Amino acid sequence: MTDLLLTGGRVLTQDEDRTVYEDGAVAITDGRIDAVGPVEEVTSEANRVVDTDGTAVVPGLVNSHVHVSDILLRGVGATDRGLYDWLFNVKQPGTVAMTTEEHVLAATLYAVESLEAGVTTFVENATEVRWGSLDTTEAKLDAYTDVGVRAIYGAGIHDLPADEEFLAHWTDVRARDPETPPVDPDEFTVETETALDGVERLIERRHDPDDGISIWPAPVLVEGTTTEGLQGAYEVATRHDVMTTTHVAEAEIQERGPLSSVEYLNNIGYLGDRALLGHCVKVTDRDVRLLARTDTRVAHNLRANMRLATGFAPVVSMLEADITMGVGTDNPMLGDAIDLLGDTQAVASVHKGHHRDPGVVPAQQAFDMVTRDAARAIDRPDLGTLEVGTRADVVAVGMAQPQLTPSPDPVHALVYGGHGSDVETVVCDGELVVENGQIATLDRERSELLADAETTASDIVERVGLV
Ligand SMILES: [Zn+2]
Repeated sequence: MTDLLLTGGRVLTQDEDRTVYEDGAVAITDGRIDAVGPVEEVTSEANRVVDTDGTAVVPGLVNSHVHVSDILLRGVGATDRGLYDWLFNVKQPGTVAMTTEEHVLAATLYAVESLEAGVTTFVENATEVRWGSLDTTEAKLDAYTDVGVRAIYGAGIHDLPADEEFLAHWTDVRARDPETPPVDPDEFTVETETALDGVERLIERRHDPDDGISIWPAPVLVEGTTTEGLQGAYEVATRHDVMTTTHVAEAEIQERGPLSSVEYLNNIGYLGDRALLGHCVKVTDRDVRLLARTDTRVAHNLRANMRLATGFAPVVSMLEADITMGVGTDNPMLGDAIDLLGDTQAVASVHKGHHRDPGVVPAQQAFDMVTRDAARAIDRPDLGTLEVGTRADVVAVGMAQPQLTPSPDPVHALVYGGHGSDVETVVCDGELVVENGQIATLDRERSELLADAETTASDIVERVGLV
């Protein structure tokens, strides 16, 4: 007997041929899709049936680069600040002041907002890991499991102490907000071995993709990690059959001496199909060739890069070079919403304007970048499509709405007119997690969670004195 049957609606499988069933159905058993096709060809016998008539049924969206805890700082101090100003004066003082309970609240709110927007998988870049005690990390992972989202936790590694040049830059940037408590640039710096051992132990303890949690080693920044730290992270990823991720060339080409960051990473052996590089905004044509040649994956964080005014990643060149790319919403205090469909619209629009070429990044390409391509970018080919045998992450987006009518091409409609708020039903790993547009797995009232987040956020802002 089938566990769960979604029946009716336009099923966009995102398979190799991008097959669409105009009146389709998806049958799910044991967390996997066991049938997909026209309604009349899929069994009608199921323990539970959800009527998805009037929706577009699509694969659960994959958000390939995010930060979680600063969701409680949304709307604070993000105006007229560049990357380092925002990072040193707002984000770091705010998130470092948070208690474990506040991080858990942030993680819960993040998971709820993600699922309600159709995002069933995200890659968290946890940049502030305290390797001496992983209580906060473990508590956040528990929160993701409780809400029922699929989380990849990039455990941050920072093992290169700040040098004089960095400290001088930091001091100049900090001078804008002398009243907010400073976060020492080496607050999270640890010995290389401590971080690499720590991440291996964490993988052994918590990495369980079948249960929705993956752990990756995640050097935070090229300029904040030693060569040994980066090489060690790639080795750990290889040994445990996971990936590794880091931030690369978000604002500068050369983050470490005269070589471009990408060239440096290539020289030390960090590029390859186990590496997912966030941003890659300031990269050269040669860098793009190196990324393509090594089959390195890229997470494109368009809206955050627009907000911080760091520029346009050469997405068109990277796609032409056949680099596998996903899209990330990055920091929720920059995006601001975790509305990956909205980001897809931006990706499909901004590059056309930037290149003055209406032919670049077609809607289908942008949609691939949050479904099948994103799944390949994180080495999860069992996600991102609706095919027999893939994990049952399925989203039904309500199409019977003025802004999505008419919709002769459902992909075009979703990319240019769809938003997370249009999502009606979400299944993650075979479990019904969103019903009628709202989270169904919380152990308390949704309104209570939101009220708690509002109060806690104001308390943090006041406590830290953020402006
Ligand atoms: Zn990031």
